[in-house]
Amino acid sequence: MTSRERVLAALSREPVDRTPCCNPTSLATVELMDLVDARFPDANRKGEQMARLAATGYTELGFDSVMPVFSIIQESSALGCLMQWEGKDNWPTVKMSQPIWREPDDISIPSNFLTHPDTQCVLEAIRILKKEFGEEVAVIGKTMGPWSLGYHCFGVERFLLMSHDDPGKTMVCLDKMKESTILFGQAQIEAGADALTLPDHATGDLVSGEYYERFLREMHTEFAAMLAVPLILHICGRTVDRMDGIARTGMAAFHFDSKNRPQESMEVVDSRIALVGNINNPETLFARSPEEVRVEVRENLDAGVQLIAPECAIPLQTSIENLKAIPESVREWHREKAVSVGS
Ligand SMILES: [Zn+2]
Repeated sequence: MTSRERVLAALSREPVDRTPCCNPTSLATVELMDLVDARFPDANRKGEQMARLAATGYTELGFDSVMPVFSIIQESSALGCLMQWEGKDNWPTVKMSQPIWREPDDISIPSNFLTHPDTQCVLEAIRILKKEFGEEVAVIGKTMGPWSLGYHCFGVERFLLMSHDDPGKTMVCLDKMKESTILFGQAQIEAGADALTLPDHATGDLVSGEYYERFLREMHTEFAAMLAVPLILHICGRTVDRMDGIARTGMAAFHFDSKNRPQESMEVVDSRIALVGNINNPETLFARSPEEVRVEVRENLDAGVQLIAPECAIPLQTSIENLKAIPESVREWHREKAVSVGS
């Protein structure tokens, strides 16, 4: 199988020759930026540099996918949020102290939303990667869900307070913001994306499982129906309490955090959605050695997790050595399985 075939089969929970390493979120590091001369902030704003940095996931690290949308703020910039683009060793952020919207009526998707430089560069990067690697590697795009956009455009606190005080108004807001998710997703599919990550930060520590059910499950089901490629939902934190709902959305996969054990997560989703994850970032990949990475990779493989990846966008200072240990450990595990089956 090619890497692309492997990823797409695993996203459909079909048989694979070996478990793919597939990163739904960023694999960018400072070391990789220097290696290919494509650094933040330009690698977040210029399509050619985005593509060059994303390609290293395949060419340097040996993953089965490439993913050029390193940040979570491309469309927020196009929606009009004030941005802080930062330097090569820091993530760009939205200045949430100066939110752009306060009420549902304020929400509007600008007519230049898809031609804005910060969405255009994503489309250009996907086109470049598709042309260069499209036959062999899965090209993954990313479109942010309305809950995440709510944080960026209303400010986290205001948005969460509104969801508590006025659920009806919150639904109206989500419904208006989801237009952005669909438009940007469709444009990336047209540009050549094989699959899309859909982060929607109803994260374990901020929002309950009941909130997921009330505000998001139906909308996520709608995204799965409307966007014509496999969708990978990304939510950080402890999410076992909402995985049953997530498994019923019709999305292809859920990108899950190391705060959830692989085995318990596989049991909850019960073959209704693929899981991708869940190698710990802040401790294992960032601060420990390849041996500890290996232990976590094997725990996921033993549990039957369909695609192996870091749990979220990796810290920019993560070592190449630790990242390479992910595909190496996957290959080693499969070699051992083959031997034990053969003997
Ligand atoms: Zn995350």
